[in-house]
Amino acid sequence: MADCLFCKIAAKQIPASIVHEDADLVAFKDIAPQAPVHVLIVPRVHIESLNALDECHGALMGRIIVVAAKLARDLGLAEGGYRLVTNCGPDAGQTVFHLHTHLLGGTPLSGRMG
Ligand code: 5GP
Ligand code: ZN
Repeated sequence: MADCLFCKIAAKQIPASIVHEDADLVAFKDIAPQAPVHVLIVPRVHIESLNALDECHGALMGRIIVVAAKLARDLGLAEGGYRLVTNCGPDAGQTVFHLHTHLLGGTPLSGRMG
């Protein structure tokens, strides 16, 4: 999508600290980290939010989780643990309307999730 921040990062039109990329996904460090490790995993294809998913996206969403878990292992988070978060819509505080999953870890995280 022409005017989407994460489409532009995925296309390398805007710089980001990329930690993983493949045919389907790009993962990069969050510009305003909320934990020692804060990575965003995004599909290359523009999907606005979880609200836009249907059955055809099942494999892609599975890959996001699998890549997040691999990154967590590679970044040394596996033993201590980590959190994956996908915000959807205003009540969850979604600010970028290109689907993304946050990988957060490297410190004990807040016990509250909402
Ligand atoms: P959301 O609030 O939509 O769940 O998450 C959006 C995330 O994108 C935020 O954590 C924010 O810090 C991050 N972000 C916003 N703009 C940029 C940017 O230009 N580059 C990077 N790397 N992250 C960004
Ligand atoms: Zn996009």
